[in-house]
Amino acid sequence: MSEPKGAAPPGLRSDEGATREGGASRAPGGERENTVSALAEADERAIESALRPKRLTEFTGQARVREQLSLILQSALRRGRPPDHLLLSGPPGLGKTTIAMIVAAELGAPLRITSGPAIERSGDLAAILSTLSEGEVIFIDEIHRLARPAEEMLYLAMEDFRVDVVIGKGPGATAIPLEIAPFTLVGATTRAGLLPAPLRDRFGFTAHLDFYAPEELEHIIRRSAGLLGVTLTAEGATELSTRSRGTPRIANRLLRRVRDFAEVRAGGVITAEVADEALRREGVDQRGLDRLDRAYLDTIANQYGGGPVGINAIAATLTEDVETLEDVVEPYLLKIGFVQRTAQGRKTTPAALAHLGLRPRGEGMQQRLL
Ligand code: ADP
Repeated sequence: MSEPKGAAPPGLRSDEGATREGGASRAPGGERENTVSALAEADERAIESALRPKRLTEFTGQARVREQLSLILQSALRRGRPPDHLLLSGPPGLGKTTIAMIVAAELGAPLRITSGPAIERSGDLAAILSTLSEGEVIFIDEIHRLARPAEEMLYLAMEDFRVDVVIGKGPGATAIPLEIAPFTLVGATTRAGLLPAPLRDRFGFTAHLDFYAPEELEHIIRRSAGLLGVTLTAEGATELSTRSRGTPRIANRLLRRVRDFAEVRAGGVITAEVADEALRREGVDQRGLDRLDRAYLDTIANQYGGGPVGINAIAATLTEDVETLEDVVEPYLLKIGFVQRTAQGRKTTPAALAHLGLRPRGEGMQQRLL
């Protein structure tokens, strides 16, 4: 597999983007703090990359997707042709980038990584597409954020392996068709619903990644612990797996936080008690919810009487992006049945209120029991 080396060309990035702590990029503070957080982020990425499964057999969970992918890749290898373009959707941290890297590795093909927001003009995309080698895999993260002209260029490239390069401006402009090498596009999006139909239809294979079951996360945590040389008991692994929001990226991050705590306070061994103590200090509760999850639920429950309330109002109250709430916070809370999305807006459920220690509506004021 070839991951991009050294300085990445314009529009290309060396590894994946946003982590669950999306807030880190907005951290207030001076230059020093930015340098520190940039270093921390680089460190975080290096570790993420070390923990990434490199082959399909090492990839845990998502059994159906894995099976289908295996078939597609085997048949492409047998035919000696690049496989169909693949679209992966699902919340951040579930393995979209990892799968793109695995696809390239299994095909023995080079890989280019870029993202929708990094491609500002169609020229940026033309520059990438026209330099692809035969069979190369190109990964476009956040493909729903591609600018319109680039998206239109991509249609033609995906279908006919051709781009139209426009020379000149105004009425004298001419489009020169340029053949490009057959390639495989792996697109990733947190929102398949936002992709225009003509783009969606050009993918031969689409897969939705769902949150991982605790047993699957436990397996991932044990594997990562092995790679990092961390000692953890079976109960310690279970504790971490049930508090990782169904997300491998979070599981790996929490493992490292708990490891740091265990090294300083508990002789380096992660037991259930050590994990619990460290996670509580991190602001991660029994269900794996963090401060933002709880602030979101608290806002609906306390400020808006349990809802229904529109997402814009919640975002304004929390001073958060609507996109962060919709892509990062809500999917898991919907999954565990803590919120409902209705035509009128978001509502908290009795399970969420119980978790927050609040009384359901109709039993007087929404007051904390604890
Ligand atoms: P996404 O692109 O969906 O945001 P990534 O592919 O970057 O997510 O995955 C985030 C991290 O989680 C990676 O560092 C990888 O180590 C880990 N990971 C994701 N999926 C799996 C999996 N199925 N098995 C093991 N580790 C995984």
